[in-house]
Amino acid sequence: MEFESILLPGVEDKRPVIIAGPCSAETEEQVLKTAVELAGKGVKIYRAGVWKPRTKPGGFEGAGTPALKWLQQVRRETGMYVSTEVATEKHVYESLKYNMDMLWIGARTTANPFAVQEIADTLKGVDIPVLIKNPVNPDLELWIGAIERLYNAGLTKIGVIHRGFSTNDKSVYRNMPHWHIPIELKRRFPDLPIICDPSHIGGKRSMIKKISQQAMDLNYYGLIIESHCNPDEAWSDSAQQITPGTLADILNELVIRDKVQ
Ligand code: PEP
Ligand code: MN
Repeated sequence: MEFESILLPGVEDKRPVIIAGPCSAETEEQVLKTAVELAGKGVKIYRAGVWKPRTKPGGFEGAGTPALKWLQQVRRETGMYVSTEVATEKHVYESLKYNMDMLWIGARTTANPFAVQEIADTLKGVDIPVLIKNPVNPDLELWIGAIERLYNAGLTKIGVIHRGFSTNDKSVYRNMPHWHIPIELKRRFPDLPIICDPSHIGGKRSMIKKISQQAMDLNYYGLIIESHCNPDEAWSDSAQQITPGTLADILNELVIRDKVQ
């Protein structure tokens, strides 16, 4: 497989490429306020979940299509690129209709070949970067299968997100990193950009910096970090979200060593 760069025009090709924004788009005010603060810290690619795959029913399941308009407003007002998660054909249509710049496939969706195939079929002929999160279960072949489904549909601007793997065992991690799995993926596909999601691996604010540094030491290309203007009040993943100010501090403290293979 030959991949094209996932980078959008004007985003510097320099490690770490940063994607940041709230777990969920909650309200227009929260989306805009967080975006303005992140843009002020130099973030160029904004993330916000519009359809939220919650483990159990009863939680906030996303603001849906209206939130895509808030993301369009983010682009207009801050100049940032905007990205969201897609899990179904409808999500893809709506995201393209509202001009998302980048899409990602969530961990629960990557574990479902029917859903990945549906997304791939819907994206046929569309020129958009797509990031594929690892499946919730530690199954490298399933992750590669999802990459192949998109690639076979003609998409070449593909990247992957390492967000850790579910566990029932008590652990300091929310999702076990199992670093050997993404490392093996990188060994097999050296041109595939790999982005670390320390927010979902760590599950708490205090772990973001250490996991981000580990990813940089392992030569990862980028980081996707959940950031919210008021993390304590977030409607999802509150414990792991950090303010744009904290994000900037963490990024400033990261040590980026030159590539040593
Ligand atoms: C998210 O990015 O907010 C999310 C739902 O992540 P994951 O698919 O990794 O659980
Ligand atoms: Mn989240």
